[in-house]
Amino acid sequence: MPVLDERLVPIFEEVLSRNPGETEFHQAVREVLESLGPVVSKHPQYADSAVIRRLCEPERQIIFRVPWVTDSGKIEVNRGFRVEFSSALGPYKGGLRFHPSVYLGIVKFLGFEQIFKNALTGLPIGGGKGGSDFDPKGRTDAEVMRFCQSFMTELYRHIGEYTDVPAGDIGVGGRELGYMFGQYKRITNRYESGTLTGKGLSWGGAQVRTEATGYGTAFFVNEMLRTEQDSLDGKKVVVSGSGNVAIYAIEKVHQLGGIVVACSDSAGYVHDPAGIDLELLKEVKNVQRGRVSDYAVARGNQASFVSDGSIWDVPCDIALPCATQNELDSIGVATLIRNGCCIVAEGANMPVTPDAIRTLADANVRFAPAKAVNAGGVATSALEMQQNASRDTWTFDYTQNRLAEIMRSIHDRCLETADEYGSPGNYVAGANISGFTRVADSMLALGVI
Ligand code: NDP
Repeated sequence: MPVLDERLVPIFEEVLSRNPGETEFHQAVREVLESLGPVVSKHPQYADSAVIRRLCEPERQIIFRVPWVTDSGKIEVNRGFRVEFSSALGPYKGGLRFHPSVYLGIVKFLGFEQIFKNALTGLPIGGGKGGSDFDPKGRTDAEVMRFCQSFMTELYRHIGEYTDVPAGDIGVGGRELGYMFGQYKRITNRYESGTLTGKGLSWGGAQVRTEATGYGTAFFVNEMLRTEQDSLDGKKVVVSGSGNVAIYAIEKVHQLGGIVVACSDSAGYVHDPAGIDLELLKEVKNVQRGRVSDYAVARGNQASFVSDGSIWDVPCDIALPCATQNELDSIGVATLIRNGCCIVAEGANMPVTPDAIRTLADANVRFAPAKAVNAGGVATSALEMQQNASRDTWTFDYTQNRLAEIMRSIHDRCLETADEYGSPGNYVAGANISGFTRVADSMLALGVI
């Protein structure tokens, strides 16, 4: 494990002792602190003003009961969370995750990452995240609606276009956001479109928001390749997951000339050497709410489903982990390296473990972190907020061009900052330092808050 700058050691120790058992949060903080040594050397005011210590403590943490009734009349009780981490740059902004693994440590890791990601976009948005340990999988639409209504019955008092603007994440897509926005509108008697992003196009949503995280991921990888006068054209790509981020990463990779040969869900992966049939995958996942094994059956002899292996065994030029945290470890990475993979870029949040990232660096495989790669989602959410505030709607092409421009500038900012702080080509250092300095400078200007 890399050594932390001595000024940062007490900060990390404090995070460990004040947040016991929250391993994902510890991991996310450590990863940022590892990049900040050169920053506190060059700018001691960041250490002197306790700005890093302050950033490690959320501004506000809300935990609440979410009672709801199943179709058969049984009462269930889930736990809801919203961690409002930093509003130095704008209203708290970040998604809601519904998954049984959700607990405070997951929400805090995601909220912490979100601060720097949002800063990196250059847009006026702070960082937050929320969710619940509710599992929408296997639930009827009516059950999901009752859960979402109960969740929003508490959450509504904490959010608003100038306060905190949630969006989707794992387990929260258009259906869930619709039920939540409906309940928000009903309770407040106000049509405040700017309170949630990722909305449907007919009720205040923006073109390209649904596609933005996946599209942005592919745009970012194309920028990485461009620095070597290369492109996605003809590249073999493996994308883990088959949710929102994965599906639209696959779509844009295909449009840019690459070929995605495998994708997955938590039950296994599908290998489709001729390239994933995206229309079929969308039908299976978004319409039938089925599994990738159903896709393999529908695809016949073209594709095989593997339930007891690792998707990283499939040979590829580029790997895009787009499912969940810590899904790609050093064993997976060793296989990727053996098979000649030359780029790993994080579509999901923190999907590559710290030791796997070090293994990639040792093997000179180019690696780009989620804060930069998947920032297109939240950036397009900010564009949705702009449209809501001005009662305007932009076309698909215009919005997509804005997204492509934002991804290019995030990419370039990462490389310029990495150069400036003595780590040329290091996207992790570039993303962390660039995001951090923007937030820290604002905090210094705003006094001790
Ligand atoms: P979805 O719920 O749409 O899809 C998640 C996918 O990942 C599914 O295929 C799911 O499989 C798989 N998955 C989830 N948890 C696990 C697990 N524990 N083990 C294996 N597979 C798992 O979520 P999104 O696509 O929206 O999010 C994916 C990642 O991208 C997350 O890390 C999220 O934080 C990040 N992200 C999302 C953004 C967005 O705009 N949606 C923005 C920025 C980041 P299964 O169905 O079997 O559970």
